[in-house]
Amino acid sequence: MRVVREVSELRAAVVAERAAGRSIGFVPTMGALHEGHVSLLRAAGERDDFVVLSIFVNPLQFGIGEDLSSYPRDEAGDLAAAEASGVDLAFLPAVEEMYPPGRSTTVRVGAVAETLEGAVRPGHFEGVATVVAKLFNLVQPDRAYFGQKDAQQVAVIKRMTRDLSFPLDVVVCPTVREPDGLAMSSRNAYLQSAERAVATTLWRALQAGREAIGDGATWEVAEKTMENVVERVPEVELEYARAVDPDSFGPPSVSGPLLLVIAARVGRARLIDNLLVDR
Ligand code: AMP
Repeated sequence: MRVVREVSELRAAVVAERAAGRSIGFVPTMGALHEGHVSLLRAAGERDDFVVLSIFVNPLQFGIGEDLSSYPRDEAGDLAAAEASGVDLAFLPAVEEMYPPGRSTTVRVGAVAETLEGAVRPGHFEGVATVVAKLFNLVQPDRAYFGQKDAQQVAVIKRMTRDLSFPLDVVVCPTVREPDGLAMSSRNAYLQSAERAVATTLWRALQAGREAIGDGATWEVAEKTMENVVERVPEVELEYARAVDPDSFGPPSVSGPLLLVIAARVGRARLIDNLLVDR
């Protein structure tokens, strides 16, 4: 596995692979790698000849008062996990390498980026879309792999990829969970042990919502059902529990799949999760 930190090295490497006729799979991350990230790397390795991983804690996607400075970082552990997961090239740029002085262009995706996570975290998806667009230009992958765990991010990236005509496929991989259902996340490291025990409330709420819909409830009732599950656990502070259309993140359509999404604070961790429900 090659480790590069400069844009010029990255470009030279991917140009050579492409010239040799190899397909490129790309997995962008912020590091602190866990089994969720590894599942994306393995999926990329199964379909593509050359797997590029980026590790970059992107300051543009963190708001004021968010956890940019305390975000978990573990370069040595990440590189070992990357190597074991079949990564061919790891790109670990410094902030100045990605954002030279004078940078002013950003990517705003529009409506899908403005509800829910976009409303609670103003500017977040502009930061995500900007860094992902830039990484897409640098890596020029055939396929880019994202986790269903961040469902609204997936919707934003898919919209951007279509709108800006990036010549690549966005591949979405299932959410990897702990045995008790908690979605894996780098931010789970913030949970103290008592908080870790109640963090499964999000998953329980989503399942209760799905069950309600399976029993014939409307999506409004399913939202209420999820809220009720969380309200019974005082340590979990609900931000939202909603049913949305999986592509637009607006209200669900009358029939077809809907997505249950939830966000809550547990201690100093802010957790999100979601569940796709077929109807
Ligand atoms: P992050 O490092 O949090 O920016 O995540 C990098 C990529 O890993 C994103 O596409 C995430 O959606 C994905 N990811 C994070 N957690 C999980 C998980 N538990 N299961 C599957 N994918 C995940």
